[in-house]
Amino acid sequence: MSLLVVGSVAFDALETPFGKTDKIIGGAATYISICSSYFTKPVNLVAVVGGDFPKEDIKMLQERGVNTDGLQIKEDEKSFFWSGRYFNDMNSRETLVTELNVLGTFDPIVPESYQNCEYLMLGNLAPQVQKTVIERLTKRPKLIVMDTMNFWMDIAHAELLETIAMVDVLSINDEEARQLSGEYSLVKAAKKIMAMGPKFLIIKKGEHGALLFHGEKVFFAPALPLEDVFDPTGAGDTFAGGFIGYLASTDDISFENMKRAVIHGSAMASFCVEKFGTERMLDLEGEEVEARVQQFVELVNFSVEAAV
Ligand code: AMP
Repeated sequence: MSLLVVGSVAFDALETPFGKTDKIIGGAATYISICSSYFTKPVNLVAVVGGDFPKEDIKMLQERGVNTDGLQIKEDEKSFFWSGRYFNDMNSRETLVTELNVLGTFDPIVPESYQNCEYLMLGNLAPQVQKTVIERLTKRPKLIVMDTMNFWMDIAHAELLETIAMVDVLSINDEEARQLSGEYSLVKAAKKIMAMGPKFLIIKKGEHGALLFHGEKVFFAPALPLEDVFDPTGAGDTFAGGFIGYLASTDDISFENMKRAVIHGSAMASFCVEKFGTERMLDLEGEEVEARVQQFVELVNFSVEAAV
């Protein structure tokens, strides 16, 4: 089923306890598109970059089945740049630099060939731009999933609430859920956030897994305990890419299937953190993905029946 992805395509500079990178490619839509292309093709991308963004990386996306007709290249401007530093626990980070550059004036043009898409993934981006994409679609998609972050809660709160009210699934991390709701308890936070509009809420808890809420129902997916986590950047976006990619490929938006989608998203995110940036996501084999999903199944598979 057709998938439209919007979000940042960026340069990132990362610092973790294991090392530092200079500018490497990143961005929410980059991680989402690469990941969802393992499940469904084409991935129709709407984004903007400056003339400094490497053409070979655009080609790399195209070769993976990403349709870049909706990727604007502003030759005389600079790409979005983000820099972050992870603390020793690798579960929390601080933003060092956010330079919006081309994102500051981004007008998301939706190509005619993207109309009628059935699945829409609003990756991290100014909430006003996310809302414009919804408004520019002539037909409402079957499912709209949105990701966002504290940056937008701080500087565009009113627009963020307007966009959240228009989506079906919101995906944020635990810190962001607390900030958005003003509640410490994630259960209370989930109730308040679902009252803002989304019928489904995903709260990501980094190495502690993810929760899926829908009405009174809750599903918990663990994160895979890994020996080494090199760089968590993009794990949230990769999770989102796996989640929506799986839903689009199975074309089933029931709560039961969303549970499977959460497990697929978690499995993909567990690969992402194994190397810096997008590197690990570029060479996955189908069997590796299936084996990783199976590891999740085994991780939480137990019986409460005593052996006789
Ligand atoms: P994640 O680790 O999944 O939360 O996402 C990391 C990605 O988000 C990085 O590749 C950044 O380029 C991108 N990013 C960081 N801040 C923003 C922002 N304010 N708007 C859009 N994308 C951002």
